[in-house]
Amino acid sequence: TTQAWQALDAAHHLHPFSDAHSLNQLGSRVVVRGEGVRIWDSEGQCIIDGMAGLWCVNLGYGRKELAEAAYQQMLELPFYNTFFKTTHPPVIELSALLAELTPPQFNHVFLTNSGSESNDTVIRMARHFWAAQGQPQKKTLISRINAYHGSTIGGASLGGMSYMHAQGDLPIPGIVHIEQPYWYVNGGELSPEEYGLKAARALEAKILELGAENVAAFIGEPIQGAGGVIIPPSTYWPEIQRICREHDILLISDEVICGFGRTGRWFGCEYFGFAPDLMPIAKGLSSGYQPIGGVMVGDRVAQVLMNSGDFNHGMTYSGHPVAAAVAAANLKILRDEGIVDRVRDDTGPYLQKKWQDAFADHPHLDDVRGVGFLAAFTWVKDKSRRELFANPGEIGTICRDIFFKNNLIMRAVGDSMVSAPPLVMTRTEIDEMIALAVRCVGQTMDALAA
Ligand code: PLP
Repeated sequence: TTQAWQALDAAHHLHPFSDAHSLNQLGSRVVVRGEGVRIWDSEGQCIIDGMAGLWCVNLGYGRKELAEAAYQQMLELPFYNTFFKTTHPPVIELSALLAELTPPQFNHVFLTNSGSESNDTVIRMARHFWAAQGQPQKKTLISRINAYHGSTIGGASLGGMSYMHAQGDLPIPGIVHIEQPYWYVNGGELSPEEYGLKAARALEAKILELGAENVAAFIGEPIQGAGGVIIPPSTYWPEIQRICREHDILLISDEVICGFGRTGRWFGCEYFGFAPDLMPIAKGLSSGYQPIGGVMVGDRVAQVLMNSGDFNHGMTYSGHPVAAAVAAANLKILRDEGIVDRVRDDTGPYLQKKWQDAFADHPHLDDVRGVGFLAAFTWVKDKSRRELFANPGEIGTICRDIFFKNNLIMRAVGDSMVSAPPLVMTRTEIDEMIALAVRCVGQTMDALAA
């Protein structure tokens, strides 16, 4: 029964990013099945998954081709490693597919099991790149406040979440943070375009302060996801690229969320028009059907890596054959069914317009924003002054819980309500999701008035 499951879960399972005490009092919702854009709980309730799991189930649930790919690979070769001088067909096929689907400078991939491991890998790779060329001191990485790059010591250090730094004495030395390009909050009187340049130039100031000879790389998500779907002004990324090139700093685009169609382009850097040297990937790489991640390595870095002896890094399951087979099957479906183009040309613009129609004129919702199948809107105190509520997260959490009770999954980041549905969501399903969100926002207003 649900109660028995909840009791066992509470007794033995420590949930990520959760307060076990309050969770146990409430009882976790037991999710048992998924199909398309929906999941079902153990009480038979059907829930619209407006978050694609954790921004990852790009293909939606229940694709039998992926189950079949896993099954066949398990029968054929359930495990072999790719250390030293061995390889296997699933990894070869996946690597070639990634070289085909990523921007032209990317012809090599280093495989991992997660986005966090991918970001740990780029720290080591960027430092090794410079050390191998006689510049071991060129090792600082610059990231941004409110960035999310994972939970490992490296990933959480690159991340700019103070509540994560507070646990485990982070960040590790050699990682520093600059401001996030959040016009709504930080832009003041500047236009978004003017502010985009200003925010990017915080990178230049930091490089000059540290000395370019000491800085290995800059890392950013094209759109900060877990930080609240912060979409930088169009001037931001081209200016970041100019600064990185001028000061000879590697440019790293964390595509763990933005990659594989989320923005209506294959990769977020393509949406904003910049060309990174390294790209951590995960999530949509397998649509979450298997744990797998990687780092796309641009030709400039690959040339040095391949000519500087062993890169002493790798996990037992780097390039796991079952995960690789599932990822390859996933990428072929995304490509062959034209799902990314559909998000760019059809369902993405439709989804964004629907969110605008629903909330742009709401008295307490503002900054209704989005790209492709990423979207957010924010509860604000005073729209005319772009003033947020004093206690960020209070209303957001109430609203998120009302969504959840009404069988719609969205996330609250402070008072921003965030959504990233599976890329296969149809227009009819979009209508259904947003109509439900409108009802839940109404209930939130009622709860606030009460
Ligand atoms: N990078 C970004 C941009 C992410 O959003 C995440 C996870 O949400 C990660 C890295 C970490 O990925 P994982 O949870 O697979 O370790």
